[in-house]
Amino acid sequence: MINKGKTFVLQAPRGMHDILPADQKHWERIRRAVREVAAFYSFERIDTPIVEATELFVRSVGADTDIVSKEMYSFKTKGGDDLTLRPEGTAGVVRAYLERGMVSWPQPVKLYYLGPMFRHENPQRGRYRQLWQFGFEVIGEADPVIDAQIMQLITVVAAEVGLKNLMLKINSIGCPECRAAYRKALVQHYRPKVVKLCKDCRSRIKTSVLRLLDCKEETCTELRQTAPHGVDHLCSGCHGHFKAVLEFLDELNVSYYLDPFLVRGLDYYTRTVFEIFPEESGVTPGDATGSAALALGGGGRYDGLVELLGGKPTPAVGAACGMERWVELMQVREVRIPERNRPRVFLAQLGELAKKKSLKLLEDFRKAGVAVAESLGRESIKSQFRSAARLGVEFTLIMGQKETLDGTVIIREMNSGMQELVALEKVVAETKRRLAASRPAGMVRPPLATTDHDET
Ligand code: AMP
Repeated sequence: MINKGKTFVLQAPRGMHDILPADQKHWERIRRAVREVAAFYSFERIDTPIVEATELFVRSVGADTDIVSKEMYSFKTKGGDDLTLRPEGTAGVVRAYLERGMVSWPQPVKLYYLGPMFRHENPQRGRYRQLWQFGFEVIGEADPVIDAQIMQLITVVAAEVGLKNLMLKINSIGCPECRAAYRKALVQHYRPKVVKLCKDCRSRIKTSVLRLLDCKEETCTELRQTAPHGVDHLCSGCHGHFKAVLEFLDELNVSYYLDPFLVRGLDYYTRTVFEIFPEESGVTPGDATGSAALALGGGGRYDGLVELLGGKPTPAVGAACGMERWVELMQVREVRIPERNRPRVFLAQLGELAKKKSLKLLEDFRKAGVAVAESLGRESIKSQFRSAARLGVEFTLIMGQKETLDGTVIIREMNSGMQELVALEKVVAETKRRLAASRPAGMVRPPLATTDHDET
């Protein structure tokens, strides 16, 4: 309904952004790396709906978490269903695993996703209300080698897009059994100091004491310094699992810090939890800045989630990364993105007939797999040449009035200024030949844009 009394401000919803053409190359670089790394490690793509039943997130993410209690975009449909814009990807993937019979596929099922998530957070740099994530999930495998491999995957994708010098923080929060003992120890630690805790933590101490370790308030981070460590309360199964994960990480040459206070904000995690930061964020294990710094990604094991959503007990592990933060870091660090598909040829035309013929010629080049730039709307040859120069092409093809009538095209080599007249029907082959001859040694022909880009 349109509110007539209110002035309409033409702007994107708060905390949501357009991804403008200038930034697309960073986004596409990340998407490509995710696709390639996923393919190498045999992860298959899954796309789940952007909205799911609200209950799915309440059950899986946890009613006490910030995400569910404060940040969900929930609504009732005209048909009366309670739906929510997905705040994260794992719940939908596990729902699909159960609903679509993936239980009977060969296990583990290895999936990856990429898409927008929605959280009604306080927007600020690196914290948005529509955020894009890519994530990897391995469902149906308990072996600690998979925990290590998931972490390695993230570092591999990061290295592919030019992001090195990252820091991986890791911890184990145990299983429901040993966590009960840890909870008790935490309550004993915090109880005598309860008046010094922030308002939220004072109530969390009863319901979700682990979350006190995640609080960013100064007094709470101070009190955390002397809190007991989860790893000291692990049962022998969880202890052995964690030790093995660290050994695999050593084997894979992935460096990490043990952070005894890393817990993560979602309820469904068990055993391994981890987060990854840029090195320059100054994060050190367990420090206050660490919890305020912006993570590039995080994840962990969620052995109880499939069962919680109605399936059989099924171990699983996964990770998700925030793409806006990756793009921002790539830009801050001035990561160079090699230009693929940059046209090396420009087609200039003069006169109505040449313009018509250019359309057909462009199509011939497209079919031959040669990228050709043009500015068909321009009349003046001078301004077309300026465009060609700005693009830095190696060859300009000129279809003047006379050439068009004669059925010829001029090929101009931009560096030397040398020109040659070629028959129209031979121009594609001749241009290809010249492009191949002028290519610097060792350079591989980039694929066409159309084969290189998908929607998300
Ligand atoms: P989470 O599962 O909440 O740890 O989210 C995984 C990753 O998504 C984080 O490490 C961030 O990189 C990113 N992320 C989470 N929330 C936001 C947000 N509001 N804005 C931008 N990125 C986010």
